Amino acid sequence: MPSQREGCLFCDIVRDGTYVAKTKGVVAIKDINPKAQTHLLIIPERHIESFREIGEFHAWELKRMLEFIAETARDVGLTDYQVLTNVGRSAGQTIFHLHWHVLGDVESHLEHSLALTAVSEL
Ligand code: AMP
Ligand code: ZN
Repeated sequence: MPSQREGCLFCDIVRDGTYVAKTKGVVAIKDINPKAQTHLLIIPERHIESFREIGEFHAWELKRMLEFIAETARDVGLTDYQVLTNVGRSAGQTIFHLHWHVLGDVESHLEHSLALTAVSEL
């Protein structure tokens, strides 16, 4: 098993979790609190704190990870989507194990959430 960090939620998830997809060294899971119609997290198995430390990956690992993002997005039916990673607490990072958000159809999710809020306020 690649290097893991004691007490890290994403290290536990890559070790024991259920995945949407998996390739060597990288997994994809559903975000527990989706901010889009489709919201996946792509998580390398190796514990790297954030994108700041991206240089710790070999070029071939990066290629595999980025290709896996594109393949997973395609396999769940997305053609248009966002790929983003928050770097640091004030930029919104809450889990300090590198991960990529894949967000498909943010707009309609927002409209749906606002509609639900409106209904619940009736
Ligand atoms: P970030 O704020 O960029 O660090 O992203 C962390 C993401 O992890 C958030 O979108 C959370 O909703 C998500 N998250 C937190 N706990 C879990 C979990 N147990 N399973 C799946 N996603 C999670
Ligand atoms: Zn970790």
